[in-house]
Amino acid sequence: MNGTVILKPGREKPVRNRHPWIFSGAIRRIEAEAKDGDLVRVTDSRGQYLGTGYLNRHSQIVVRLLTWDPDERVDRGFWRRRLAQAIEGRAHLAQTPDTDAYRLVHAEADGLPGLIVDRYGSWLVIQCLTLGMAQRRDEIVAILSEPAQLSRGDPSPLVGIYARDDADVRKKEGLLPETSPLWGAEPPALLEIAEGGHRFLVDVRGGHKTGFYLDQRDNRRRASVYCAGADVLNVFAYTGGFGVYAGQVRARSVVNVDTSADALSLAERNLALNNCQPQEMVIGDAFQVLRAYRDQGRSFDLVILDPPKFATSRAQVMDASRGYKDLNLLALQLLRPGGHLITFSCSGLVSADLFQKIVFGASVDAGRDVQIVEWLAQGPDHPVLLTFPESAYLKGLICRAW
Ligand code: SAH
Repeated sequence: MNGTVILKPGREKPVRNRHPWIFSGAIRRIEAEAKDGDLVRVTDSRGQYLGTGYLNRHSQIVVRLLTWDPDERVDRGFWRRRLAQAIEGRAHLAQTPDTDAYRLVHAEADGLPGLIVDRYGSWLVIQCLTLGMAQRRDEIVAILSEPAQLSRGDPSPLVGIYARDDADVRKKEGLLPETSPLWGAEPPALLEIAEGGHRFLVDVRGGHKTGFYLDQRDNRRRASVYCAGADVLNVFAYTGGFGVYAGQVRARSVVNVDTSADALSLAERNLALNNCQPQEMVIGDAFQVLRAYRDQGRSFDLVILDPPKFATSRAQVMDASRGYKDLNLLALQLLRPGGHLITFSCSGLVSADLFQKIVFGASVDAGRDVQIVEWLAQGPDHPVLLTFPESAYLKGLICRAW
């Protein structure tokens, strides 16, 4: 430990409640030789120990706490215990034969701030989103590649570990983008995974996030219940996640909309891989496509809206809300009476409450009676830590519109 971070008077309460972030505004003084990335002790204004974490003076989040126990050493054993606990928590998924892709480590929510580890069959894809974690990447990889680590209930041996250290949030930590193999073999251009008996090709080296929206696994299954025999509009389709599920339960027709031609051509391959009927692929901006459909008087039994994150800072929440409102209004205008809207927001800064209010506003403007029939959230491999409510980011509603 190379230093102590002393908080301003009265700023210790969230830390005592085990919130893992210390913002620059809460700090009175950094008494340290400590370099960015080093471990530091955090104390209250009177010098009472609160926790231990890693430092980055160049981030708004100056310390991310790792332990609140003054006697716990942050050494190889610490990282091994935390990783083992995260992996243990996914043991039920590892034993599900029809699914071999899921999140193994969900950063702060698994007690490992800044670290994402996703499993795609025999491959791991990791993201270090903070300087402190980036500096410990080799150690994390060494532990993850230990044969005993991942074997718990999982039959497939590990073949390679790949770094997708190209997420935008790294800029806030002063980190440069980097993608590279870290251990074992380099993953092929497309990996094949299984999800609930469906098969998908995943571009772990260049696709969004670590390649696939694993957080929507259970929601794709929930959505498929409403797809049989329906005319489906799958907006923000990416590589066809919801489209493949809809195809497998024999939707009458499916239109997939996305700005990315590459994503949609992978969606076509994913449909073929699952022996689904071909579906319509529309390359274009969702707002424009939905408006054009409305003006043409087109209608659907089911509209799925799974947009990218609209708000990345508090200042963007108003604009994001307007975007969600417009989108949901357009979708409601395309729905036949008794049709379903499955609508998501993955903006953590837009709470579930606010999101419901936005959809309410859209229903009023559309002049439709709308019932919520299901509330949705991120899958269980993306847990929410009660002391860190920021880990809840994905929310969704299944609505019926009359
Ligand atoms: N539903 C998908 C994930 C969607 S991710 C799944 O289950 O896998 C969001 C998608 O929105 C991305 O594929 C991105 O290319 C697309 N996108 C972003 N902005 C868009 C816009 N304005 N119009 C249409 N698609 C857009």
